[in-house]
Amino acid sequence: MKIVTAVVLSTVIGCLAFSAQKVALPTDGDRIAKLFFVFLLTILVHGQIAGAGISPYAKMCGVDVQDVTWTEGFWAEKFELCRRATLPSIESALLDERNGAQLINFKIAAGLEQGSHRGTHWSDGDCYKWLEAMAYMFAVTRDSELDRKMDYWIGIIAKAQAPDGYISTTIQLDPQKKRWQHVGHHALYNMGHLITAACAHYRATGKDSFLNIAIKVADYLYTVFAPRPPELVHMDFNPSQIMALLDLYRVTGNRKYLELADIFITMRGSAPATPEEGRKKGHIGGTDQTQDRVPLRKETQAVGHAVTGTYLWCGAADLYMETGERALLKALERIWESARRRTYITGGAGALHEGLSPRGDIVHEAFGDDYQLPNRTAYNETCANIGYAMWNWRMLQITGDAKYADVMETVLYNSGLSPLSADGRHFFYANPLAWDGRDGWPTKHYTGTRWFVHSCYCCPPQVARTIAGLGRWAYSVSTDGIWVHLYAGNKLCTKLPNGSTVALTQKTDYPWDGNVKIFVTETPQEPWALRLRIPSWAKGAKLKVNGIPVAVKSGTYATLKRKWSAGDVVELDIPLAVRLVKPHPKMDDCRGRVAVVRGPVVYCYERPQGQPCVSLSPNVRLTPRYENGMVVLVGNNFTLIPYFAWANHGPSFMDVWLPLARRDRR
Ligand SMILES: [Zn+2]
Repeated sequence: MKIVTAVVLSTVIGCLAFSAQKVALPTDGDRIAKLFFVFLLTILVHGQIAGAGISPYAKMCGVDVQDVTWTEGFWAEKFELCRRATLPSIESALLDERNGAQLINFKIAAGLEQGSHRGTHWSDGDCYKWLEAMAYMFAVTRDSELDRKMDYWIGIIAKAQAPDGYISTTIQLDPQKKRWQHVGHHALYNMGHLITAACAHYRATGKDSFLNIAIKVADYLYTVFAPRPPELVHMDFNPSQIMALLDLYRVTGNRKYLELADIFITMRGSAPATPEEGRKKGHIGGTDQTQDRVPLRKETQAVGHAVTGTYLWCGAADLYMETGERALLKALERIWESARRRTYITGGAGALHEGLSPRGDIVHEAFGDDYQLPNRTAYNETCANIGYAMWNWRMLQITGDAKYADVMETVLYNSGLSPLSADGRHFFYANPLAWDGRDGWPTKHYTGTRWFVHSCYCCPPQVARTIAGLGRWAYSVSTDGIWVHLYAGNKLCTKLPNGSTVALTQKTDYPWDGNVKIFVTETPQEPWALRLRIPSWAKGAKLKVNGIPVAVKSGTYATLKRKWSAGDVVELDIPLAVRLVKPHPKMDDCRGRVAVVRGPVVYCYERPQGQPCVSLSPNVRLTPRYENGMVVLVGNNFTLIPYFAWANHGPSFMDVWLPLARRDRR
């Protein structure tokens, strides 16, 4: 489709260009020259348009969010909860003066209301994440009320933007503060999220109102950062702007955004702090806290703040997809291996509230050392867990390696979902793996129940934009077919790169039941490949095409390349046996314990406050039972529930890692 569009567009442009120049074509030589000119334009235009599809150094790209309609089961329920409860709850919180993120700041900056800035320095960024979530929701539902609401706030944001493109209300509304005065002002985080939300809005609505604001922002950032001013070398803290600039590059084709993204990646780690500065509490810049001690291309470890880290690696993965620079991919692969040893069975990222990096820098909200994974004090900020999934999704698009899809799915069913209450309106900030009733310890971010408003409101819109936009992660398109990453009841209707339409219907009650049926409802005549993810834990998975068995291997994508017909049925049976997972011997906090996992879902033992934890025998019988919309595991006098569902009935105690009953215990 894109190629066809490109050819048509370039032919039109080519003809217009020639008629504008009133070029006569008396000879064959001129005609050949004209054809060559059109051919060049075709390549150029196609290059621009292809930027919105599969990136040149990625194996695949996610489908458009509106290509997937959730129809039944787990993600259909969560999507509906997001539409009905989560997005309105976030809107109410953003308008509630007790909250850390505040929509009113835009009205004040626009001159529509009187007052001073309220909330955190990064309040703007969290408001943009809510707009991004609404854009995805609108793309799928076409709910005109969402469209109206987005138009309303975009109009105000446009008025709040400074004439030169700058926008960060925390600075604009405080005459005492100057632009680029302090890294803690989060200006790049704010403007990065604006750009991402604007690209989502443009794709969802086709309107350029928000996109034009974003282009002004990015052009302004280019004038400030492209000269690489040494005094701003540590100004980039939470780098949402890197992936944002790459998104804007894909939408507009303007290479200066690609160049600027590269500058931000290269700037980090180029001016390391002294070891003394690294040991100074609260110091930001040049240390492991912000992945700023070692240049990314030379990094070997996952260190520092877990949100800034995962966002940086997302940005670097996006940059690799466009440039193919091997040093970036090699570094990301090394960091990923390190991160595997520093993240939780729930996909939680950022073990430490406060501690030291392996290189001796003071870090907070950060990755710890290998297997330094405490349970009760696990920080696992919601934003970081989801950032980890975002990074793994990008690595999957680059490589096609199923190990990245496994991590992404682990986050989605566990640490990325535990922040959200069953009613869809309340949230966790920290996501520890054990709870002992000490509310607000060791910091206020650890709470035993979810809240509606919070002094730091970054996490709720992070959850909302993930659930609202999840269709993009369910399937990808590559040059020869479709990849299925997530199993859930849905209908897919998308286009292959050659422009032909593929439509599939997926029926399943996964993750509670492992049977997945995929019906082909529309297909081109030519053969194409349907690739199905076989999770690494799914030993003994069975696959059939129209009833005929096909061999599969866990931890890979099963490739079914054939001439498809409407009515073809693919049936996958994923075994969901309960697994008792042993901790790594170096995980001190888990010694003598096991975790219970079924499919991608991690279980926990929740109980009234003060009650001891249950002990499991190594051959414990746990019977799956469907109740209250989920599968619980019933043992002898106890019940385990999915980790994501804990703390929905008031304060409690909870453990993910459960002690093993030892035969020699007296
Ligand atoms: Zn957060």
